[in-house]
Order: sequence, then C-alpha cells, then structure tokens
Amino acid sequence: METNYTGIKTLETSTDSGPKHLGNLRLDNTYSRLPEIFFQEIAPKPVSDPKLIKLNRSLAKELGMDPSTVEARDLDILAGNAAPQESKQIAMVYAGHQFGNWVPRLGDGRAVLIGEVIDESGARRDIQLKGSGPTLFSRMGDGRASVGPVIREYLVSEGMAALRIPTTRSLAMVTTGELIARERMEPGAILTRVASSHIRVGTFQYFYGQKDDAAIRLLADYAINRHYPNAGENSNPYVELLRSVVERTAELISSWMLVGFIHGVMNTDNSSIAGETIDYGPCAFMDDFDPSKVFSSIDTVGRYAYNQQPAIGLWNLSRFAETLLCTIDPDKEKATAKARKVLETYWQRFEKHFHTGLCQKIGLEHNEANLSLAFQLLDFMSETKADFTNTFRNLPKLITTPEAFNAETDNKLGLSDKFSDWSAKWEAKITEEAKPLDETLGDMNKINPLFIPRNHQIQRVIDFAIEAEDYEPLEQMLSAVTNPFGENPRLKHLSEPPKPEEEIKQTFCGT
Ligand code: AMP
Ligand code: MG
Repeated sequence: METNYTGIKTLETSTDSGPKHLGNLRLDNTYSRLPEIFFQEIAPKPVSDPKLIKLNRSLAKELGMDPSTVEARDLDILAGNAAPQESKQIAMVYAGHQFGNWVPRLGDGRAVLIGEVIDESGARRDIQLKGSGPTLFSRMGDGRASVGPVIREYLVSEGMAALRIPTTRSLAMVTTGELIARERMEPGAILTRVASSHIRVGTFQYFYGQKDDAAIRLLADYAINRHYPNAGENSNPYVELLRSVVERTAELISSWMLVGFIHGVMNTDNSSIAGETIDYGPCAFMDDFDPSKVFSSIDTVGRYAYNQQPAIGLWNLSRFAETLLCTIDPDKEKATAKARKVLETYWQRFEKHFHTGLCQKIGLEHNEANLSLAFQLLDFMSETKADFTNTFRNLPKLITTPEAFNAETDNKLGLSDKFSDWSAKWEAKITEEAKPLDETLGDMNKINPLFIPRNHQIQRVIDFAIEAEDYEPLEQMLSAVTNPFGENPRLKHLSEPPKPEEEIKQTFCGT
C-alpha cells in the first residue's frame, strides 16, 4: 500500500474476479463529475482503532458484496482509514432552512461520500461515511458522530426499511477508538449510510442562494437523470421533476403518519429529492397517540410536531419549487404559475395515500364512511392515550379474543361504552368486506407492525453498548424491528410500550 497526499492509504488495485468486498469493489462517483462548486474533494480523517460493531449483511448482498467475511481492508474503508478504489471522495455542499431560518451554506460537515455502487436491481446508490471527520463545511463542529446517535440511526433506518418506508439505509457501524466531546466524553463511531442519493432540497437552495441558475439547471438535469428519467422525456422536464418530488414527498410523509413516526427535524437540508427519509436525529416513533406530539428538545414551538408534518412537507416543496423557477420558464410569472399548479396537487396526493392507508389499517377499503370510522378510532386513541402501534396491531383480536385486545392495549380503549359502539360498527363493516374475514384480519397484520424501534428500547440498547460494550441487546432489537410484522414470542417484550419510569419524553439532535 502506498500513501497518497491526503495521508490516506490507497489500496492496491485488485485484479481478482472473486467475491467483491468493499475493499475490491470499484466505486464510481458520478456526482464528483459535476463542477467543483458542488463539493469539496476530501478524504475521511483516519481513526486510531476501528472496530466493527455491525455489518448489515443483507444490505451488503443487495449492493453486490460478499458479506460472509469482513477483511481488514473492508474495515479500513468503513472507518475512513483507506480509500475505496477509483473513486473521488467528496463532501457535498448544500444550504437550508433550519426551523424556518435561512442558512446559506451548510454542507456535509461530518460526512464523506466515498462513492456510488450499482446494486443488484441496477439502481445507483451512494455510500457515505457519517462521522468521518471535519470538512470545509464543519463550521464549529468536530466532524464526528458519537456511538449513541449512530446506533439510533442504524436501528431506526433499518426499522423503517422493514416497514417498507423509503429511507436511507445503514450498511455498517464502526467505533473509532477515540473519545469525542459531547455533554460527556463519548465513544466516536462512523455509520456507513446508503442512499438513492444525498441530493436535498437544500442542495438546490444553495445554488438558488448563489443566484447560480446554470448550476441549478445542471443539478436538476442530474437529479432527473438519476431519479426520474421519465421526466426527461416530458415537454417540460423541470415541471415533471417538481411533480415527481411532490408525489414522492406526499407519499413518504403519509407513510410516516401511518406508523406514528415523527422525523423531528424536517429542515429543507434534511428533505431528500429522492423521497427517502433522511437524517435520523431527534426522530421518534410515538408510543401513546397524541397528534401534537413533539420529541425534539430544540423544537420548542412544535414546528415539526406529528400533525404538522404534512404541512411542513408542502412548505419544503415550495422552497424546492422556488429554486426550479429559472428552469421551468424564462418568464418568471409563467414559471410561478406552472409551479403553483403542481404544488396545488400536494394535498390531494397526500390525502389519497393517507386516507387509503388509514382505511387499510382497520382492514377496510377506502370510502367516506370507512374513513370516518378510522378517524373516530384515532379520536378515541388520543382521548385515552392508547398506544398507537399496539392498538392497530391488536384490532383483529376485538373479533377473535376481545379480552386479549384489552390486555394488549392496557384496557385503555376497550372498557368505554363509546368504544364498544365503535367496535360493533367496525365488526359489522369488516364482515361485509368482499374477502373472507380471516384473510382480512391476516392482511391487517401485514400492514400494522408489532415491532417498531421504540425510544426507550433504543436508549437501553445504547446504554448497554456504551457502558458494557455489550451489543447483544442491539442484535435482539434489530431482529425485532427488521421483522416488524411477524409474531416472535421470544421478543415479545420489545413490543411493549414504556412503563412510566422508562418513558423518554425528549430526544436530542445528538450531533
Ligand atoms: P443535522 O442536524 O445532522 O442535519 O446537521 C446540520 C448541519 O450541521 C449539517 O451541515 C451537518 O453536516 C452539520 N453538523 C452536524 N454535526 C456536526 C459535527 N459534529 N461536526 C461538523 N458538522 C456537523
Ligand atoms: Mg442534516
């Protein structure tokens, strides 16, 4: 191995045609072929003593790697101690509205995109190291991540993927052997994140802020090429790009709402053009249902509360639309009218997904009467502070074993007369559905998860990891949240909401 000018070891070119490890995988990087104003070329800063906590073997396989062994050079790459082959490593520039306030330049302050791979399905995926050291965009930060937030992102993103919600993925976690200063000294770690791309609304906003129309056009063309090739064939590809992102975002946010997920920091820099959930900071799944629930310690006005998310989605899309105006039509008024027309479809798109999904959660087809029944249930749940996940999951038991429904939902709903009326109406409806009842109830269990990454359990996993370097609770929790719909008596405790003393009321950005 030779050392290049960055001090990073360069791996000798492998000529073997055997199984591909990270070490001999040839990474491409199309984004780095954009002009230099789009990024800083930079290598991760090496760390002293990397140790692998976890490799996501099924994702590795999906990316065309052989996951059976992790060689030393694979670990070196995951830690940022070695460069992958043939790829320019970069930190991407972006801007953003953080809690509504404009920040003209943010960028990857603690992440490096090490390259792109074409996965088994032919899709191009970014591989990024998060926590890989300072970049031009680090501002006052140290460029590092601590092990707690890394474990949190791994658990929640993999849980989301198993819930079939578009998301960035987690390929690996390594500890760095270095302590980093947060509220206390904490072990440093690096997450290997995989994404359809890391292009954000904020990426477009950076060039909008710079008044660089040519760069916006380049970026829009790149995004169309990579994510929405059909838009390229449209008479106005940029209106079509906007329409596609509006649709993906509406669908994404409705899918969050249907599992009680609160992103917590929906700034425009954390809003993906590919429509994936990205940047797991102070996010959380709700336990008891409260529509105005906020977890993030810094979200003091509830800007990103559970029930604000759909509206914030539109706000972010409006910022995106603004940046695209110059590409849509040279006449600003015409461009604005065209963009507005697309934005106006947002609520209809959101409601279609949300309402259909809500009816499906109670086993019914989407119509006005069924939807109103679903909303009534949400009202009861919020009045009684019933557990969001367990209420939906156990609905079939209202018909098969009502006592079990009551036990599983802590008697929160089942004992009230109002709910008995609801339940009788629902039972009548569900038996009217075209499908046999067994099948309907079985289908509900394929939509309503048993296991979600609950906050108090994530915290427990992190405590074991930090205090005892014990990763067994992590493995257990991963087996639950990556199979969220299957019954698993051994892991039953992981489906339980927190006891009052376990409840976590606030989450932190944890940077
Ligand atoms: P986030 O809240 O994770 O979305 O980050 C917002 C911005 O702060 C992004 O530009 C990050 O790259 C940057 N940032 C967050 N934490 C750090 C850190 N520890 N060091 C450097 N930059 C950071
Ligand atoms: Mg971010």
